[in-house]
Amino acid sequence: MTLTAATPTLASVRQALAESFRKAGIDSADVDARLLIAHALGIDRSAIVANGTRALNAREMQAIDALAARRLKHEPVARILGGKEFWSLMLDITPYVLVPRPDTETVVEAALDFVVRDGLRMERLRILDIGTGSGALLLALLSELPNALGTGTDISTAALAVARANAERHGLASRCTFVACDIAAGLQGPFDLIVSNPPYVAHGDIATLAPEVRDYDPAVALDGGSDGLDGYRAIAADAGRLLAPGGRLIVELGAGQEGAVRALFTKAGLTVGKARDDLSGIARALSVTIAP
Ligand code: GLN
Repeated sequence: MTLTAATPTLASVRQALAESFRKAGIDSADVDARLLIAHALGIDRSAIVANGTRALNAREMQAIDALAARRLKHEPVARILGGKEFWSLMLDITPYVLVPRPDTETVVEAALDFVVRDGLRMERLRILDIGTGSGALLLALLSELPNALGTGTDISTAALAVARANAERHGLASRCTFVACDIAAGLQGPFDLIVSNPPYVAHGDIATLAPEVRDYDPAVALDGGSDGLDGYRAIAADAGRLLAPGGRLIVELGAGQEGAVRALFTKAGLTVGKARDDLSGIARALSVTIAP
């Protein structure tokens, strides 16, 4: 029985892989096929298209098949590659941290807007990232604010190890400290800028998430309790004590959560500003200050 009529080439394998991803309901089938082939072969993504006629040997096919099998089980490409770019920083990703998402860059934008508007870019700002995970938010901000100092908390020490490695990788380790704790327990403050992407999925909704998220993101980083708002409640309880006068807190919101989170911070005696939309037009970053 002849299985293959022709020798596999970069182009034919790329097409076949993309097709199998599409059949599995994977949206980003073409891009994923290209990324995984490039990773398996240790070549540049652009080389795949440029060298479409290049034949692949059995060992190369095996390497590609091994990665493809993982993607077909809906493991995200970022996890297979072990890295994800966030705010132009390539970050290491392990099973203990969320894969940083483009939505979360809205929090960075909102934070930088506030810093620049108040003329604070070169100040020695004290930044806190609650539930830092891979360190994405904290490191993005430190990369933009050359004199800022950062603290990142996480309840997971395994996550903090990833954040620390990412800080070192980007030459930011001398400006940040990582603390293992729930929310901000034990921290004194004050902080000029607090950011957080807390777990915000309602417990009962976790089962309905895409398998890429449900089966691979750490549950502790997703599960916001019965209504998804436990993380915000805990942050609201601590914000007044942790924020410096004139300081600002910016939290990421899950889709549709703006009203509930606004009410919760207002009830805690804080002043809530406008929400900033993400690229899909979803209210994504909510800005909070201490009432004057
Ligand atoms: N963005 C994740 C999702 O896909 C949730 C992340 C979080 O809970 N902060 O729903």
